[in-house]
Amino acid sequence: MSLTFFPPPLQQINSEIALHTGVKLYVLRLDLMHPWVNGNKWFKLKYNLLEAKEKNFTTLLTFGGAYSNHIYATAAAGNLFGFRTIGVIRGEERLPLNPTLSFAVQQGMQLVYLNRETYRQRNTPALHEYLQQRFGEVFIIPEGGSNLNGVRGCTEIVAEAMPTAGYAYAFNHICVACGTATTLAGIALSLHQGQRAIAFPVLKNGTFLAQEIEKLLTNYLTSDLPAPYSSPASWELVCDYHFGGYAKVNNELRLFSQQFREEHDVPLDYVYTAKMFYGVMDLLKQGFFCRGDRLLLVHTGGLQGNIGIEERSQCDLVKPKTRYSVS
Ligand SMILES: *Cc1c(COP(=O)(O)O)cnc(C)c1O
Repeated sequence: MSLTFFPPPLQQINSEIALHTGVKLYVLRLDLMHPWVNGNKWFKLKYNLLEAKEKNFTTLLTFGGAYSNHIYATAAAGNLFGFRTIGVIRGEERLPLNPTLSFAVQQGMQLVYLNRETYRQRNTPALHEYLQQRFGEVFIIPEGGSNLNGVRGCTEIVAEAMPTAGYAYAFNHICVACGTATTLAGIALSLHQGQRAIAFPVLKNGTFLAQEIEKLLTNYLTSDLPAPYSSPASWELVCDYHFGGYAKVNNELRLFSQQFREEHDVPLDYVYTAKMFYGVMDLLKQGFFCRGDRLLLVHTGGLQGNIGIEERSQCDLVKPKTRYSVS
């Protein structure tokens, strides 16, 4: 099973504010590694797929919402690497299927729906047993690929920014959008002295993640998985850029995202990367970073989700000041 894709390009952002403040900005374009299996979701899947293969499983089962980047990536990766896939989706079935789920079905994923209450038990042995009984021997990957295999994959992200050995040391801040913090944990574990990971939670009240991160790091370091470096992980949370909560979008974020794409040719997704990029540019304006700092912004992908957001928010978008009606 070959697991190599395109190396993600490293793209410098020549914005006026970066020039003015003497801070260098680079984007690690994980979104460009593969058309469907990309972003941090690929890194979180990688060692899960390898473990499933090693243990001779032929079917992967995982969980997600109806617009999930993880469901999308798992369906495509399963197809690519010869696994059957089952997607357990939160909530009731809605027809016609949205673009995320119809893509998953095209990739051969079987969809199963659980009501929200049952779905909440997605990490319990009882539900897993029920699913094993219903579907046979399946390799279960948690929602978002957020287990220690997922962390392990993410320890390899920053090294991707190393066209020549040693180059990644040159970045002193690694910025990433944060949901469950699995990606942040992996990144933090891979850093060298003088490097710091900055996570931007996309959920409201993201400070609770600090405990989760400590837990993830401890669990990882006490497991027998390889830790790239023994230096203690250095990270921080910046919780001011959630824009009202998960998948909440306002016009300011939309405008920022459009402008960033036009000026720098970097498309952003509204749920994760747009919020992180907005946060970094805002902190830059406020003087949070120092002259000479070198920032690596990790583009974690997720662009497929924009179709869903655009669809869901048509009514927010259309706000004419004056209405004309013709009868
Ligand atoms: C899932 C996702 C994240 C969040 O990753 P965590 O490991 O849960 O913190 C960030 N960006 C994108 C585009 C994602 O799809």
